[in-house]
Amino acid sequence: MRDRIAIIGAGHVGATTAYALMLRGLVHEIVLIDDNEALARAEAADLSDANTLARPCRIWAGQYDDACGASIAIITACAATQGAQSRLSVAHDSGEIVAACVTQLMVGGFDGIILVATNPVDLMAQAAFQDSGLAPARVLGTGTLLDTSRLKQTLSAELKLSAGFIHGFVIGEHGDSEVAAFSAVRVGGMGLDAFTGERAQLDLVRIAGDVRDAAYGIIGGKGYTSFGIATAIVRICEAIVRDEKAVLPVSARLDGQYGLSDVFLSLPCVIGVGGVERILTPELSTAEHEGLLRSAATLKQAFAGL
Ligand code: NAD
Repeated sequence: MRDRIAIIGAGHVGATTAYALMLRGLVHEIVLIDDNEALARAEAADLSDANTLARPCRIWAGQYDDACGASIAIITACAATQGAQSRLSVAHDSGEIVAACVTQLMVGGFDGIILVATNPVDLMAQAAFQDSGLAPARVLGTGTLLDTSRLKQTLSAELKLSAGFIHGFVIGEHGDSEVAAFSAVRVGGMGLDAFTGERAQLDLVRIAGDVRDAAYGIIGGKGYTSFGIATAIVRICEAIVRDEKAVLPVSARLDGQYGLSDVFLSLPCVIGVGGVERILTPELSTAEHEGLLRSAATLKQAFAGL
């Protein structure tokens, strides 16, 4: 793979992603592109100051020509939002921005993988897919990887168990209609009910609500979220660059899974150098399956309205 990642949108998420990428030492070149060129230059200069103390990496504020030579283009550019606006409510304005970014990328001959973080991420990934003309495997959204991390963190606290040994996923929309697939959670090979055994059952409705609404709480306090999403972006990039065949819940274009097609939403996917190499369909409870179908319907309707 080419040793360069482009980040389009050098705001909170874009700049934090560049910082996390640099610390991880995943690539040797990171180019930041933003409409606000002064911001991109300032972030690149600030990051370069830290760079000599971290891993060798050239970080600069560039143009789309620079992005065209990247293996991954991360899109975080978005319209300005007011406080804790719902993700779907900013779809139109951010959709125009994402379309403009993708068009400029493709005009320059970009042929890598597009990773979208801009919200509403499922709709933005679908728009990027349509505007790019790239194969479905090569356009993905960060989806529910962050929500899944929040779910594992919450279960870890509830079960008093290391999060790394809790396997499970939030699926569907990254947003209000998402589904925490508790029936597919495994702890040491056991389902949640079997693991908790005689002890008090977990309040799954409250846990799912806490996970779903976590971002609103953070935005209420600091105005945006950045560390969690940046780390999720870096994790996906790592799986691609290192051809890990990692199983991560990301927003991908469905092609018949659970009877759903032509919609971007999150399911556990095999991520490697080809992007989304396989979309998995874990067994779900009836309620979860119905929730996933509702989530897909919400997204289809919202995309049609874009
Ligand atoms: P921000 O406002 O700090 O940064 C957005 C940047 O985009 C700004 O610097 C702006 O100048 C730039 N921009 C606008 N139009 C552009 C264009 N046409 N070309 C290039 N750059 C352009 O926002 P943020 O806090 O960094 O958030 C970025 C996006 O990430 C938002 O949509 C946010 O909702 C999303 N986000 C997603 C997740 C997730 O899990 N997917 C989590 C957190 C944030």
